[in-house]
Amino acid sequence: MSTEKHSFTAEVQELLNLMVHSLYSQKDVFLRELVSNSSDALDRIRLEGLTTPDLMPDGELEIRLEVDTNARTLAISDNGIGMSREEVIRDIGTIARSGSREFLAALKAKQTAGGAGGAAASADLIGEFGVGFYSTFMVADRVTLTTRRAGTDTAVRWESTGDGTYTLDDADRPQAGTTVLLHLKPVDEEDGLGDYTDTWLLKETIKKHSDFVAHPIRMRVERQEPVLDNTGTPVKGMLPKTVTEDETLNSMKAIWTRSRSEVSDKEYHEFYRHLSHDWQDPLATISAGMEGTFNARILLFIPAKAPFDLYHRDRITKGVQLYVKRVHVMDDWKALLPEWLRFLKGVIDCEDLTINVSREMLQHDRQVKAIRTFAIKKTLDAIERLKKDTPDAMRTLWAEFGAVLKEGLAAADEFRDRLLDLMLSESSRAKGLTSLGDYVARMGDDQKHIYYLGGASLDAVRNSPHLESFIRRDIEVLFFADPVDEFWLQGDLSYKDTRFVSVSQGEIDLGKDEDKADSTTTDTGDPSRFDGLLQTLRTHLQDDIKDVRLSGRLTSSPACLVGDADDMSPQLEEMMRRMGQAPPKTKRILEINPDHPFIERLRTIHAADAKTPELDTYARLLHGQAILAEGGTLPDPGAYSRVVMEVATQALAAGAPPSAPPSGEAPNAQQSQSSGDPS
Ligand code: ADP
Repeated sequence: MSTEKHSFTAEVQELLNLMVHSLYSQKDVFLRELVSNSSDALDRIRLEGLTTPDLMPDGELEIRLEVDTNARTLAISDNGIGMSREEVIRDIGTIARSGSREFLAALKAKQTAGGAGGAAASADLIGEFGVGFYSTFMVADRVTLTTRRAGTDTAVRWESTGDGTYTLDDADRPQAGTTVLLHLKPVDEEDGLGDYTDTWLLKETIKKHSDFVAHPIRMRVERQEPVLDNTGTPVKGMLPKTVTEDETLNSMKAIWTRSRSEVSDKEYHEFYRHLSHDWQDPLATISAGMEGTFNARILLFIPAKAPFDLYHRDRITKGVQLYVKRVHVMDDWKALLPEWLRFLKGVIDCEDLTINVSREMLQHDRQVKAIRTFAIKKTLDAIERLKKDTPDAMRTLWAEFGAVLKEGLAAADEFRDRLLDLMLSESSRAKGLTSLGDYVARMGDDQKHIYYLGGASLDAVRNSPHLESFIRRDIEVLFFADPVDEFWLQGDLSYKDTRFVSVSQGEIDLGKDEDKADSTTTDTGDPSRFDGLLQTLRTHLQDDIKDVRLSGRLTSSPACLVGDADDMSPQLEEMMRRMGQAPPKTKRILEINPDHPFIERLRTIHAADAKTPELDTYARLLHGQAILAEGGTLPDPGAYSRVVMEVATQALAAGAPPSAPPSGEAPNAQQSQSSGDPS
């Protein structure tokens, strides 16, 4: 096939442009990125080789560096899985990897935040992200990649000068794998551009970033050797001879097999970067060994930031990897950890499994179960330490992963109590996040329950009418507005013997009778005078509402909706509907506030003419308003807006209440009507 010319996608062009003009001073990260790609490719061929032994190369799996000082080139080769032509186009020509995409997003955020423009803003971010294969364009003005997919016999050559296009050609390559040949830019120490044909610099760079890579990284090095006579003593006057030999540049020592005290944080973080391609340091490092019937080492990291694919469970990559006796066998975190810990990165290395263990075997393996429990406990221990020692880090963890951890509460397994202890939430009183322990400690002597309010969003919850009398009585209410909350809050739930009670469900007994009396009955008289109005409202709203009653929760709103204690919450109903299920429609209870002028007005209208059609309009107005006030969704927004316009138009047109009360008193709500047209 002749040379094909392709254009990079716009995103890649943007990235390349940044790389070519990069001001970033530590340009050696390019080597870490290439080595890491090669290491992944070697892991993959070993994995595929388990089922298809023919794919395996004749020699040992390895990564090779090769320099040509005259041509000023550096080649990084591996005998790994390689790429087909299609894969090259897909993986090298477009932004496939999450890291690059996050890099661009972070860069844009930085630029719009008014930071330094273009190249300067990108400089520090490049170091943080690495940005994979494209980082080669910081050190090379031309890159040639030759690759052959294992199991095929055609190779392809990809080449680009980083100018927006690349070419593809057929190529020769005796065995499967990939070589990335860098045509190096001239050395420019000031710009951080070292001489990457210098063996010493390459050795240093590998030691610094890639020492723990599990495959050998080799290079041919020259060594001066004295000429010896047959007794083994150097021959005087003879110049030493130059021998070339292979040197392995990395120790390959699996970092997780070393005890915590032997490894510096810096080394752990370097490994974390290698593993996760994340640029921030992790929030916590969990390193532990399990000994006894089963033996394993775990090295897990809690990232500082949630990846964008946290909710695409099947797409999470570079999570927790399974090793068997130091050999990487699987990336499948699902066998090793519960879904609610899917944000962890790291390695679990089991001593007693066989290397060709299958996914299915893992699911039923007793050892895996034991190790899984061990890993969960160690992770919860680490989170507990964060909570105790570094509250700021704990808040970060909760903001990023709290909603995922709460999935563990819904799973209702043996870790629920520990998770409840770790949980943080917003509340009506605390500034920022509070723990359940702190909430309970703040509870007044006569408060019996943990009160909470769920809802569609924090804003909706914070402004919900259900809170009114709790706020007036200074009773703290926890806010739960994550969709997952609807699942774990189901059923009878307690924290250390204190029951959770929803403030929007059931009748609330706040235990202070004199206060309660104060809010349900007022000096305007006996509550039974609302009986007739309640009955009429019930009739008008019977299709939507299961009861209408006077409220003990409201102080300033006219009405709110509540459920019975064991009713499904409207959020849960909505969620089930979105998941394609058809939950039975749960009718709620409309509670009205007898102290509100609107309600008092309705009572007067009702007293004058219980059959007036206006009461139907007002009933609908009240019901819709109660839905909106709690941040809910109107079942028929069109119908509701017609009701609102009908009332508004009547008010304006009449220049007076639509139906003047017999007593002739002007209700508060109508006081602004003097500007209306008095036709
Ligand atoms: P990342 O490694 O984070 O996915 P890169 O831009 O570095 O991002 O690489 C993009 C993709 O190209 C890789 O995911 C991989 O599929 C492919 N690739 C890169 N280098 C190699 C290699 N040496 N062998 C096989 N595939 C490779």
